[in-house]
Amino acid sequence: MTRPKVRDDLSTLEGYHSPQVEVDVRLNTNESPYPPPDGFRDALAAELSRVEWHRYPDRAATALREDLAKGMGVDPAQVFVANGSNEVLQTVCLAYGGHGRWAVDFQPTYLMHGQIAEITGTSVHHGRRAADFSLDLDEVRSVLRAKAPAITFLCSPNNPTGMVEPPEVVKEAAALAPGVVIVDEAYGQFADWSALELIDEDRPLVVTRTYSKTWSMAAARLGYLVGPSWLVAELEKVVLPYHLDTVKQVAGRVALRFESEMTERVAHLVAERERLVAALAQLPVEQWPSGANFILFRPTGMPGRQVWQGLLDRSVLVRDTSSWPGLDGCLRVTVGTPAEDDAFLSALTEVLA
Ligand SMILES: *Cc1c(COP(=O)(O)O)cnc(C)c1O
Repeated sequence: MTRPKVRDDLSTLEGYHSPQVEVDVRLNTNESPYPPPDGFRDALAAELSRVEWHRYPDRAATALREDLAKGMGVDPAQVFVANGSNEVLQTVCLAYGGHGRWAVDFQPTYLMHGQIAEITGTSVHHGRRAADFSLDLDEVRSVLRAKAPAITFLCSPNNPTGMVEPPEVVKEAAALAPGVVIVDEAYGQFADWSALELIDEDRPLVVTRTYSKTWSMAAARLGYLVGPSWLVAELEKVVLPYHLDTVKQVAGRVALRFESEMTERVAHLVAERERLVAALAQLPVEQWPSGANFILFRPTGMPGRQVWQGLLDRSVLVRDTSSWPGLDGCLRVTVGTPAEDDAFLSALTEVLA
């Protein structure tokens, strides 16, 4: 048998690499270290007993969009929901990217932006961040002029650097971009400002968010977007019918009843992050200012890959970003429980000794 060839433009595609290894301390994918509150499980179980399993879900996810919209002070028609913010991003690319169109991002940043765009047939150009990983507006200007992209990806706080984009930089980039601007705020609740304040029917800017990180619901695969209603309407045209199952819609609504618990966890993780930052400052590593639930750091006396392996040998898994574009030798650690973070710090101290 000769195996059929995949699309020419996908022949070099590598797929998503984040090893799922059995370890004691898993600090590699920026999940919450805490499960949702017990009350959430009970309330969800009660709601699920009422699901009409023989019926298709509400295709428009009306109630979930209304509840999300209320919490953010926007119109439900400005909210789009999907299976993880990755599907949200894919839907924007399907609607606004495609063959003959460009998407741009600024590396180092979330690798899935480029990957998702490529899978939808969109051409991708990677701009560069400045040496300190900040977004350089001169570079943004020149990339936007050269490519006239249909889609411009921003990410704040940026994964994997953790850095929050200043409002004036996002505003300026949005004013310069000729197409849709996506501000990926997967970690938005950890930051001190949000691009949600820029949402306007007259501005083609969208903010994407997820239940995977702050809401302790990575297992659910639920994400959403806020943007102009006319843009949301275009997204609704390209998703598969009934793409968001009833269970997920219910889970998303029940979670919103526990907003104060979520806010408390975020505050707790931010305090824990600051403890990690202070401890890392005592070790031979360089680190970058984080507004998220993870920290990017670079061991100064030892190759990153070797440190990653040394941590893994001690059953601590962090993300090996050392071969990512622009991130020579860097590793990314997710903020865990105090016990997990202590295990990470003592393993790291040992490896670097
Ligand atoms: C984790 C992450 C996502 C999450 O995607 P989901 O599909 O919602 O789990 C999106 N963007 C960035 C930058 C992330 O780090």
